[in-house]
Amino acid sequence: KASAPENETPVTKAAAKAFDFGTLPAFEHMRLQRAAADMLKINPPFFRSIEAVSESHVMIEGKDCINFASYDYLGLNKSPELIEAVCEGVKTWGGSVSASRLVGGERPFHGALERNLADCYGVEDAIVFVSGHATNVTGISTLTGPGDLVLIDSLIHNSVAEGVRLSGASHLTFPHNDYAWIDRKLSQSRDDYGQVLIVIEGLYSMDGDVPDLAKFVEVKTRHNAWLMVDEAHSFGVMGKTGRGISEAQNIDPTSVEIWMGTLSKALCSCGGFIAGSTELVEYLRYKAAGFIYSVGLPASQSLAANAALKLMLAEPDRVDTLRENGALFLEQAKLSGLDTGPSLGFAVTPIIVGDSLKTVFIADKLLERGINAMPIIFPAVPEKMARLRFFLTASHSKQDIQYAVETTKELVDIAAGTNLLEGLRSK
Ligand code: PMP
Repeated sequence: KASAPENETPVTKAAAKAFDFGTLPAFEHMRLQRAAADMLKINPPFFRSIEAVSESHVMIEGKDCINFASYDYLGLNKSPELIEAVCEGVKTWGGSVSASRLVGGERPFHGALERNLADCYGVEDAIVFVSGHATNVTGISTLTGPGDLVLIDSLIHNSVAEGVRLSGASHLTFPHNDYAWIDRKLSQSRDDYGQVLIVIEGLYSMDGDVPDLAKFVEVKTRHNAWLMVDEAHSFGVMGKTGRGISEAQNIDPTSVEIWMGTLSKALCSCGGFIAGSTELVEYLRYKAAGFIYSVGLPASQSLAANAALKLMLAEPDRVDTLRENGALFLEQAKLSGLDTGPSLGFAVTPIIVGDSLKTVFIADKLLERGINAMPIIFPAVPEKMARLRFFLTASHSKQDIQYAVETTKELVDIAAGTNLLEGLRSK
């Protein structure tokens, strides 16, 4: 169970303001939302204060809670090997590499991590960036530009959309997982563009579903396009040894031009990577602004990711346990009649409630019962699709999962009743 460390309360003083940002229109909107939540006596579900972490548990306001809001999919975040690697890294190399790698030089831990990531995919090379979000922004905007076309899935992550915006390339959003739509579109207009890039995710973290990778490879090959797969949520999760969607769907990884992943999820660090051919990596090493004008990944984060990667490959039982837990959650939720949308029961399953207010209320009540699960509400999803999102990890116990499903079912049923607010308040 999680126990809080010694508390050091920061002393905050009201300071003078050079400009009152509270006068901005967007701020007014936030204020109104807060006032509405206060009126309804809802505790804000975001930025919850986490006082301690232990495997699948967190302490929130002194209460031990089962955590379903963590990407520590393989339960490696506090493994002794990872902690040891981080400590050694800091002792030997300090807290920072203190410059961009281009000018400040290479340290062995960068190359080692990149080599291991490339080997894990069976591709020629890899490059690591200081943030997963920045990896997509800088990677996509470096590889495409005006005159090119980027096709993105309707559920694609914000970082991809930001990269496309920055690139100046034309872009089209295709219906979720619809490779046939791309095929039709490119049959009509492929010649209007220079390079065409298709971006998909290995596992979609809103719905918990996956693309048919073979079909995407087929379509991109037919139209001479590049395929980029963001494996933020599928790396460490899908495939027998956690190597991601290509392993799970038995696709040769070298048939995809650009593999992207984060170091922040299954690998318990911070940063992102792109893996692929020697030339792709070389190009990014010299051209990607988010790489050449940004500090290199610190030793602690490089070594943490490397240690987690080694553990992932050496202990495939962790991936098995994660798979069992994901499947158990989905099965139990379905059996109890909860709406799990299109989830396939990998590491993420939504429980669709369908109303933002009810969803926030349920999340609040779940917390009172010792369950930390995030509400995803309008405008992040359409109003009728508001949901609670459960991330499963290898460190959840079967009892954790059983209890979470039963409690969620009870609260969803209450919320579905006509006297929603009263029913939930008296619970
Ligand atoms: N891609 C996807 C699909 C993501 O879900 C995320 C973050 N959740 C990112 C990229 C960005 O990764 P990071 O949080 O490591 O910056």
